Amino acid sequence: MTKTLIVGNWKMNLNVHQASLYVHELSSEINHHDDVDVVLAPSFIALQTLSLQVKKHHLSLAAQNCYWRDDGAFTGEVSATQLRGLVNYVIIGHSERRHKFGETNKEIRAKVQAVLRNGLIPILCVGETADERANGETKHVLHDQVSGGLANVASDEIHKVVIAYEPVWAIGTGENALPKDVESAEETIRHQVESLYGHKAATGTKLLYGGSVNSDNASDYLALKGIDGFLVGGASLHVQQFSSIISKAHQLKGKKS
Ligand code: PEP
Repeated sequence: MTKTLIVGNWKMNLNVHQASLYVHELSSEINHHDDVDVVLAPSFIALQTLSLQVKKHHLSLAAQNCYWRDDGAFTGEVSATQLRGLVNYVIIGHSERRHKFGETNKEIRAKVQAVLRNGLIPILCVGETADERANGETKHVLHDQVSGGLANVASDEIHKVVIAYEPVWAIGTGENALPKDVESAEETIRHQVESLYGHKAATGTKLLYGGSVNSDNASDYLALKGIDGFLVGGASLHVQQFSSIISKAHQLKGKKS
C-alpha cells in the first residue's frame, strides 16, 4: 500500500519552544493511521529537540534545505551528513530557495544527490511562476526542473525520490491551483520521469501537491488519482487545520484504494 504523505513546511516560523509545544498539541489531536505518513519540517534549530519527541507519536521530520557537500569550510550551511539521524526527508529546491536565494538546477541536483548519498529522502520541489504560466511555459518549466533536479539520480535510486508540484503563484497566496491543472502538471511530471527511468518508476514515484492547501480544499486534490499527498505551508502552522488535512487524507485513502 502506498501511504499518503503529508508534509508540513513551517518555513522560518516557530522557535524551539513553540515547535515542541506544537508537536505536543498535534499528537494529542491526531490519531495514528497506517495509511498516512505525517512529516514536519521545522527550522534546523528545532530538529534536535523534535527528533526526541516525534518518534513515539509516529511523526517524522524533514529539513527545509541542506548543502550539497558533506562537510568542510562552508560557514552557515548544514549538510545532509549532519542531518542523518535527525530527519528522514529533506526538502530540496523549494520555490523560495529557487527564487529568493537564486538556487539553480545545478545546485539542486547536487543537493538531491547529497540527500540520497546520506540515506535520506529528497522532496524535490518543482513548479512554474505566474509569468511562466501566463506565457504557456508550464510544461517546459516542469521538464526542465524535473530533468535538472534528477540529473544525478541513478535508476536504482529514483524510487526514493519524492516530487512536489508547487506552482509558485499558489504558494502562500491563497490562490490554489485548479485540480484539473494539478492533474495535468502531475501527468507532465510522470511523463518526464517515465522518459528518464521507465514506466514502473513513473507510476511508483510519490507526487505531492503544494500551494495554499487547507482543510477546505484538501479533499479536491486528494481525490486525484496521481496525487499522493501534500506539501503544506501556512496551514501546517495551525494544529487544527493540519490535523484536519491529515484526517481527510486518511478518509480519502480508504475511498481511493
Ligand atoms: C509551501 O511552503 O511549500 C507551501 C505550499 O506553502 P502554502 O501552503 O502556504 O502555500
